[in-house]
Amino acid sequence: MELPVISNAAPPSAGGGCSESGCGTEPDALSHLPDHIRSKVQDHPCYSEEAHHYFARMHVAVAPACNIQCNYCNRKYDCSNESRPGVVSELMTPDQAVKKTLAVAAAIPQMTVLGIAGPGDPLANPERTFETFRQLSEQAPDIKLCVSTNGLSLPDCVDELAKHNIDHVTITINCVDPEIGAKIYPWIFWENKRIRGVEGAKILIEQQQKGLEMLTSRGILVKVNSVMIPGVNDQHLKEVSKIVKAKGAFLHNVMPLIAEAEHGTYYGIMGQPEPTPLELQALQDDCSGDMSMMRHCRQCRADAVGLLGEDRGDEFTLDKIDEMEVDYATAMVERAKVHEAITTELEMKRALKAAPRFSPDAPVADEAAPATRNIRIAIATKGGGVINEHFGHAHEFLVYEVGPKEHRFLGHRKCTAYCMGDESCGDGETVLGGIIKSLEGVEVLLASKIGFEPWADLEKAGIQPNGEHAMEPIEEAIRAVYDEMAAAGKLDMPVAGASAQAA
Ligand code: SF4
Repeated sequence: MELPVISNAAPPSAGGGCSESGCGTEPDALSHLPDHIRSKVQDHPCYSEEAHHYFARMHVAVAPACNIQCNYCNRKYDCSNESRPGVVSELMTPDQAVKKTLAVAAAIPQMTVLGIAGPGDPLANPERTFETFRQLSEQAPDIKLCVSTNGLSLPDCVDELAKHNIDHVTITINCVDPEIGAKIYPWIFWENKRIRGVEGAKILIEQQQKGLEMLTSRGILVKVNSVMIPGVNDQHLKEVSKIVKAKGAFLHNVMPLIAEAEHGTYYGIMGQPEPTPLELQALQDDCSGDMSMMRHCRQCRADAVGLLGEDRGDEFTLDKIDEMEVDYATAMVERAKVHEAITTELEMKRALKAAPRFSPDAPVADEAAPATRNIRIAIATKGGGVINEHFGHAHEFLVYEVGPKEHRFLGHRKCTAYCMGDESCGDGETVLGGIIKSLEGVEVLLASKIGFEPWADLEKAGIQPNGEHAMEPIEEAIRAVYDEMAAAGKLDMPVAGASAQAA
């Protein structure tokens, strides 16, 4: 089966101030997908911006070995406060992973997706990976199974993946040019030999492309992940987007490089710069001309549990799972009810969004009203699509670009929580300074509550804090804030030539 080429080019500038990159009229990056693909992915927390507020995912860490070396990777264990791919606290056997999955699915009925993403490469550990999938497809048919891979062993595993009914695969493709690849991958392990440099990168790229084509020809959905590495592949990723789209990938996820020296990676130690949030967004916008782009990926740990952005792994450690008795047949009945309720809610929201907006009481648009500009608004949320997180407890903020009539989700900004408890609350200007830095480009911040001290510092930094929309749906709140600011004349576009005349 050949998947159609997808286009979700950023919409043209709308009158009244959408930015060059466009202010999406589309509520979700999946809006442009053909119906048969969209129906498969629209309730998947990793693929749908909307669904990720409601449905949860988990990873099980059954795959320790890797067959390549990436300069951004160091598979480090016992680092439970860190969230990045490759990090896990406990490595598991397939039996343990299955027990954990059933326990989590029973306790968190919103959990719909199980992924194997490491800490090494799942397909470099085929026995462990496929034994886990085999047991889960038999025992928990209501859970979607996904796998992430670097692609080196993918062509050899496509038949086995199809056998286990894995309908979503993620391939990390950082380049299609071996010269660039040699700067990212110092070696690969191929046919019992370590192959270095351009030669190794060439083999890896060929295997990735071949695996991608084999999967899509079997109707298995493929998302492509790329790590944006400034000065190495940032200029090249547009080309990657074009090629993977042409070969049938349905979604592209450009993620920022994480390169901190304490992680012990080559890039971290060498001081390779990470992209800023605005650089990342600009590249995602550039690539979106050719591809559906994913913007809400959290670069999760290889043992993450819960909604995206949260990690409930501590509730399901091996010793705790050992003591749990799970009646999965009963749990499945409860899960079905929860899924139905969420799906009904999402369908109602989608229908409301799709309905033409006409109100007889609405004021007639004032043609003479000044054009207003777009702004970025940051949100503190624990999920559910509402503003329900205290500023001090937030580990991340969702950032939206809002224009006069439209808005679009830009991505999330991770941070250290300002307040970790009574003793550390307000600990340091350093934490607050870091949060403010992470909010570069943001003009308004909405949280359920914001303390006095951070309030003052946010204002000083040009970010208007606002706690008036606690527990309101995000989309309604950002629209209300925008309209209020516009009505107050705070968003008027400068009139062309005004300053010259004044002078
Ligand atoms: S790393 Fe990204 S794609 Fe994978 S589970 Fe997390 S959010 Fe989803």
